[in-house]
Amino acid sequence: MSNELQELLDSNKRWAATTEEREPGFFSRLLKQQTPQYLWIGCADSRVPANELVDLLPGELFVHRNVANVVVHSDLNCLSVMQFAVDHLKVKHIIVVGHSNCGGVHAALTDARVGLVSNWIRHVQDVRNEHQDWIDSLPDARRVDALCELNVLAQARNACQTTVVQDAWARGQEIVVHGWVYGLHNGLLEDLQITAGSHDDVAPAYRRALAAVKKRYA
Ligand SMILES: [Zn+2]
Repeated sequence: MSNELQELLDSNKRWAATTEEREPGFFSRLLKQQTPQYLWIGCADSRVPANELVDLLPGELFVHRNVANVVVHSDLNCLSVMQFAVDHLKVKHIIVVGHSNCGGVHAALTDARVGLVSNWIRHVQDVRNEHQDWIDSLPDARRVDALCELNVLAQARNACQTTVVQDAWARGQEIVVHGWVYGLHNGLLEDLQITAGSHDDVAPAYRRALAAVKKRYA
């Protein structure tokens, strides 16, 4: 076991040395401050590593991840991350990122019991239930990815409705909420166009993005 982990520590030493060699003073500059422009709220899945997917360095992306990229209004962990990112770091963008073939979404779709996490993904089942008839009308093979996208829209809308974002907009702070989906099969991120930069944007942006998802899967 310790030998396996030693590989990680050795690898870290090489990475730190290469990074410092490529950009002398990199770590001492980061020590002083972080000024990320973006908050990424994504899935905990190991195949969706935030920084790597958008080729950003340490210090450039503030990240929160959980199973199935859920934004719940009573989740103090997610809300704390959002509040710190918005109020203190003054990020300009919050990006909720789902991914195709998400295990959490699959479990939600099929009512699979997977232990404690089944309680967490009840939030995704709420999304499923809201669109049950439409999902049932799709071929089996398309349902998980369709729900992945619907879930991104729902969670991005939830992010817009948090007190953190609502208060920021009310005081005139510029912050835009987005919803993206990542394709495990091709490594590409797609903008689902639920893009909201003010309270009044939220409902029409959600409606437009939802119509676009339904059109694409029709
Ligand atoms: Zn996932």
